[in-house]
Amino acid sequence: MMRIGLGGVIAICLAGCAPQMEGAGSEITIQQAPERVLSEADAFHESIAVFDSHLDTPALFHNPEYDFSVRGSFEEDGTHVDLPRMNEGGLDGGFWVIFTRQGPLDEASYAAARTHGLMRQTAIREFAAKYHDEVELAFSADDVEAILEAGKKVVFQSMENSYPLGTDVTLLEHFYIGGLRMIAPVHFANNQFADSATDINQIYDGLSPLGEELVREANRLGLVLDGSHASDATVRDMMALSTTPIILSHTGAKAIYDHPRNIDDALLLELADNGGVIQMNIFGGYLEELIPSPERVAALEVLNETYGTNTAEMDPETLAAWNEARTELNRLYPRPRSTYEKFMEHTFHVLELIGPEHVGISGDWDGGGGVDGMSDVSMLQKITRDLLGAGYSKEDVEKIWGGNMMRLVKAAEDARESELVSPDILN
Ligand SMILES: [Zn+2]
Repeated sequence: MMRIGLGGVIAICLAGCAPQMEGAGSEITIQQAPERVLSEADAFHESIAVFDSHLDTPALFHNPEYDFSVRGSFEEDGTHVDLPRMNEGGLDGGFWVIFTRQGPLDEASYAAARTHGLMRQTAIREFAAKYHDEVELAFSADDVEAILEAGKKVVFQSMENSYPLGTDVTLLEHFYIGGLRMIAPVHFANNQFADSATDINQIYDGLSPLGEELVREANRLGLVLDGSHASDATVRDMMALSTTPIILSHTGAKAIYDHPRNIDDALLLELADNGGVIQMNIFGGYLEELIPSPERVAALEVLNETYGTNTAEMDPETLAAWNEARTELNRLYPRPRSTYEKFMEHTFHVLELIGPEHVGISGDWDGGGGVDGMSDVSMLQKITRDLLGAGYSKEDVEKIWGGNMMRLVKAAEDARESELVSPDILN
């Protein structure tokens, strides 16, 4: 069988792949694979539901320069997702994220975070309304089939960092009515709900008592719980307490790169044993150690001296100025990038360890994702070709691209105890 994308052999790029993205800076070996085999894999990719569990694109919705209907380019504008590129890469949608940066744990900051979260959800709903011929909000597993049959993209909503809920988990019901169906308690730093994977101090050794309330409320309403960014102890607490399997919506393998955001083999086995799913993250900084250029290091030092490093403590004006300066810095001195091959190394490791029933894909698109060889969502067929090439069956690949994620959505839905009227009336 043809084997592509491994051992330094790169798949032939069919029509639709941007030429500048192929193996920049590295030597390419073109495998003379039969055209028929490649086109069969691409046709199969096109025929199945391809979902990503963590699309950060809503962070762009407030930006007047971003237009979902116009093809952008990562090299020119830094973006990863829009309608033309979703069509090129056969991406059918997935979970679109309500992300809130972690700030101080006090009442005024909770109120500001709540406003931010509600506005981000409103932005997603406005996006769905504006592009109603192209995309549609999904509220249940059953909605998916009809949306795809209508030729539209699926817009589930997830929350990355539950910080906007403050200390009142009943607010989750409000977000649920608006369409929220997945929730991650914590992000880069410990918060009121849980310890983070990337916070040096561990406060609760897992979930806080309020975090336990959050898990119970998510179960009652029928949301999928997301352990990405959570500490290992938090992930274990979530699995122990949740009545349905959890997802890690964008995470990597610690066996390939020892980073706190990645999960070791023991925890991966526990996750699978619990019925859970890990969505392999195409985020360079978590795939391997990347050494920045001396010019970038120097520029970062100047940035830190000017603005400090604690974004949680910055007032809105300073934060905006810091954001602008950091964007310019990244343009002038780009982050070092990982490669598509390294991403597939993580993916194959986890697939071999826990099997295709427990693995999916997420690029962390528009949230820092992307690697050399896969800069945006326009070339996702490559992953399908390589999975088939490595001997995974079409059935396996279908599960990896969305079947597993949807199994968890359905499980959460079936286990819900809330008597809420269907939120479809708000659609
Ligand atoms: Zn993230």
